[in-house]
Amino acid sequence: MQKRALISVSDKTGIVDLAKQLVEHGIEIISTGGTKKAIEEAGIKVTGISEVTGFPEILGGRVKTLHPNVHGGLLAKRSEENHMDQLQAQNIQPIDFVIVNLYPFKETISKEDVTFDDAIENIDIGGPTMLRSAAKNHQDVTVVVDPADYSAVIEALSEGEISLQLKRELAAKVFRHTAHYDALIADYLTNQVGEKFPETKTLTYERKQTLRYGENPHQQAAFYADALAESSTLVMAKQLHGKELSYNNIQDADAALTIVKDFEEPAAVAVKHMNPCGVGIGKNLYDAFTRAYAADPVSIFGGIIALNRSVDEQVAEKLSSIFLEIVIAPAFTDGALEILTKKKNIRLLEVPVKLNEAVNQVKTVSGGMLIQEEDRHEMEEHDFKVVTERSPSDGEWGDLKFAWKVIKHVKSNAILLAKDAQTIGVGAGQMNRVGAAKIAIEQAGEKAQDSVMASDAFFPMADTVEAAHEAGIRTIIQPGGSIRDEDSIQKCNEYGISMVFTGVRHFKH
Ligand code: 5GP
Repeated sequence: MQKRALISVSDKTGIVDLAKQLVEHGIEIISTGGTKKAIEEAGIKVTGISEVTGFPEILGGRVKTLHPNVHGGLLAKRSEENHMDQLQAQNIQPIDFVIVNLYPFKETISKEDVTFDDAIENIDIGGPTMLRSAAKNHQDVTVVVDPADYSAVIEALSEGEISLQLKRELAAKVFRHTAHYDALIADYLTNQVGEKFPETKTLTYERKQTLRYGENPHQQAAFYADALAESSTLVMAKQLHGKELSYNNIQDADAALTIVKDFEEPAAVAVKHMNPCGVGIGKNLYDAFTRAYAADPVSIFGGIIALNRSVDEQVAEKLSSIFLEIVIAPAFTDGALEILTKKKNIRLLEVPVKLNEAVNQVKTVSGGMLIQEEDRHEMEEHDFKVVTERSPSDGEWGDLKFAWKVIKHVKSNAILLAKDAQTIGVGAGQMNRVGAAKIAIEQAGEKAQDSVMASDAFFPMADTVEAAHEAGIRTIIQPGGSIRDEDSIQKCNEYGISMVFTGVRHFKH
């Protein structure tokens, strides 16, 4: 029987070539309006879809291929006599190949000036319907949605039969594609009506990178990016130098970026294993980075650095004197690049750091996932409540607010010490609070004297105040809210420590 291929594509890449090859294999081409025109212009004979349906394309193209003559031809099982008899009775010819790609919905909604009507008009109806019919009946129909697969199909044709394996792979790809396409539409409309946590969650992730391995070399991994995220995060990063990012690199880089986007003033953040090991702010980037470095010159080794200003030569010199995995910044001057690219292993990422940008956080649990808004709570001046007899000095207020900004990025239980616009001790991820305090104090050493302490959650008892006093810490910031708050306040008054309550908790698990 005469084999037929239905071609209806928005992206016309490679279509003339494919049509030519199909014709050479004795296959008849059927096409819709624009596609037919493009193929005919190359001098290839094409049957118009209206000749197949006996119906004109109507409603400005909304109805072109939605017809039993098309879908009967696609869905009939060739091995089932009864199906074939019905086709014959209705005078429907089978269709053996479907080459379809869809209206560019994602590209349309990504345009800055997109209107709602534009978006709606770019929802393809007939295309996905053909793809799904053909993919369901892939036993008998070869379906191609991705121009990258044209050559594989032609090659298989030249070798004779198209294998069931290839047909099944192509069908699987079609259902992934139409599911993703519909998910994009669903997300767009859901966002338009402002539903935050709908009863079902569609995923619109696209593979960005196959990773060499996961957290450890024996774990396979890949990086998927949200197709709709217009974020400043790593999805938009431009790598200027260095080896490919690894799984751990991506996590750490994200952690560093998340912290640095909290700061309006020049800021430098050093991250190790998802926790900040040094954060500094200053009058310029050099000043900020000098502080972040001095915060903990040991832990920064092999660290990930995020900066919120363009990197110049002076900063580059300082960066290049340390072994670093990644440097992230909104820009690098030519001179800075010259200095940094001399180091073979350093990865340089250019990322537009968007101040205070909030994204949703997704975390998987066995068999499910949790979604929450990012913790980007900002304090108002009147939310800080001094609860002790002593009040912080002006300088201490500055460090308290700085420490409070950073503490929410430290894994709980978290205690952080700061002095002179830099962190000097970080106790992260401990199972008890006083344990985190002891680590932070030990790390600060003599610098703990006259520093400020921040705690991500309330003090369940007065032991952390005790430890602070012994280290010479003069002021503390914490949420408050424990039934034993009074004990801690009394202890502070006894030692002449000032304490500020925020009323806000910053757990990070
Ligand atoms: P053409 O450029 O050939 O005129 O149109 C090709 C596009 O139309 C393809 O993206 C295809 O998915 C889409 N398409 C094919 N049939 C129909 C239909 O019946 N309705 C709608 N809305 N789109 C269709």
